[in-house]
Amino acid sequence: NRQVILKRYVSGCPTVDDMEVVAGAVRLAVPPGSPAVLVKNLYLSCDPYMRTRMTRHSEHSNFVPDYVPGKQVLDNCSVCKVVVSGHPDFKPGDLLWGVTGWEEYSLIPNPMFCHRINHHEFPLSYYTGVLGVPGLTAYAGLFEVAKAKKGEHVFVSAAAGAVGQIVGQLAKLTGCYVVGSAGSDQKVNLLKTKFGFDDAFNYKKELDLNAALKRCFPDGIDVYFENVGGAMLDAVLRNMRHRGRVAVCGQVSQYNLERPDGVDLFQLVGKHIRMEGFLVSEYSGDYYRRFEEEMARYLEEGKVVCVEDVAEGIEAAPAALVGLFAGHNVGKQVVAVARE
Ligand code: NDP
Repeated sequence: NRQVILKRYVSGCPTVDDMEVVAGAVRLAVPPGSPAVLVKNLYLSCDPYMRTRMTRHSEHSNFVPDYVPGKQVLDNCSVCKVVVSGHPDFKPGDLLWGVTGWEEYSLIPNPMFCHRINHHEFPLSYYTGVLGVPGLTAYAGLFEVAKAKKGEHVFVSAAAGAVGQIVGQLAKLTGCYVVGSAGSDQKVNLLKTKFGFDDAFNYKKELDLNAALKRCFPDGIDVYFENVGGAMLDAVLRNMRHRGRVAVCGQVSQYNLERPDGVDLFQLVGKHIRMEGFLVSEYSGDYYRRFEEEMARYLEEGKVVCVEDVAEGIEAAPAALVGLFAGHNVGKQVVAVARE
């Protein structure tokens, strides 16, 4: 059972050497009398927040525990298949998504915390992306937190990523004017051609982010879906309209810093901007099921498309995770550990 562990706490940008793929014991059984299930992991999700769990007492990681270097297998959301079940409601062959280790086989103590895969007409990996946490995050952040409405001007950062690509498409479906930023011309092109954004720019090529936003939003921004923080957030706040809303989803530019960059939050006061943080975990249960059905319909009808970046094999997992911080991923980064 090959497993990915953290070798040491990380400072600055994570590297492949901070992790190690080790051989763990294979235990193809569940403890007698336990409701646990043993699963085979098929697709592992790579998510930027995993970096926040790689620092001791990380300020960012107060909602999930840090990984313990040297022994604990990394964990995150995965798509997996039940191999052995101690639970009456789960049987071998059932497909689930939920939190498992970054390893080939995992023991899930209580499978009731997992979701069943209901839509077999799509690639299973979609449950690490558009039909899983990133899709739900995009949906809840845009509609529950930012309350985006028809005709509004919406800006999304890290727009070609797992969350951003869905935010932009949902905002377009709502009748918004949508602009995204991304870190390469290839991604900018994807935003405009594949995802139907009205406009997009490569933030790495813009000398002045404030000027870039003014060019795209001469009348200002109603909704900012915040994925990156730092200089981009600062520039966006200067371009918000009165009573604009900022859904603070994440701040990937800050995760590798010892101390977060300064941002002029006073902009919120003068312009009555509502800026609200949220965690996707608030939107589970029935809310997730409603989302899943709606998103499956959009996918079926071709109203939403998604792009994935699939790394092959568990050995590729550390590099796939590290690549998120250099923008190597085009679309949702996922690791295919096994196909079936
Ligand atoms: P992505 O697929 O967007 O991957 C991360 C992307 O971030 C990279 O591809 C890169 O794209 C960009 N990036 C990396 N470093 C920087 C930097 N220094 N400055 C600007 N951009 C950078 O990841 P996700 O879609 O999974 O996550 C997007 C955001 O949503 C993250 O902040 C994440 O933490 C957050 N999130 C929050 C959740 C919640 O419950 N609140 C749930 C899920 C995600 P590029 O080439 O464009 O630079």
